[in-house]
Amino acid sequence: MNENIKCPKCGYPIAENNHRYYCSNKACDFSIVKVLCGKRITKSQIKILCAGGRTAVIKNMISKSGSHFDAALSYNKTDGKIEFVFE
Ligand SMILES: [Zn+2]
Repeated sequence: MNENIKCPKCGYPIAENNHRYYCSNKACDFSIVKVLCGKRITKSQIKILCAGGRTAVIKNMISKSGSHFDAALSYNKTDGKIEFVFE
């Protein structure tokens, strides 16, 4: 369990396993993969995302097609998805 990190959807504490950060509320489907586009999402980045913020730009992420890109991350509450923010 991660103290101080709360689910952006329901407010329950965020838990983690080897692959994901997820909501400890079984009725809630919130989860974020730990490795996104080849980059490990840190606990402090999860904290920012769950608080509705935007992370700093993460460099050198790798898209599905294999190209490299830089982007910040934010969590879209409406869609329930992590979004890339390009500046
Ligand atoms: Zn939740």
